[in-house]
Amino acid sequence: MGTSVTRVTHDQRDLKVVEVTSRLVACDGGGGALGHPLTYYEVGADGTATCNYCDKKFVLAQPTGEAQG
Ligand SMILES: [Zn+2]
Repeated sequence: MGTSVTRVTHDQRDLKVVEVTSRLVACDGGGGALGHPLTYYEVGADGTATCNYCDKKFVLAQPTGEAQG
């Protein structure tokens, strides 16, 4: 288990939708002048969360490896 946080990276700051691999997401807008204070979000039951600052949408990636083909 442990605490897993997906942090939005600089490369992702222009993306409207970011695929994440953990329920906990940390977004600071990608940092720099266009960034915002680091804020944590938890992906909800619908599998998504939205950043209140930069409107980025986080979508929880479905685990792969089971039931494939
Ligand atoms: Zn953000």
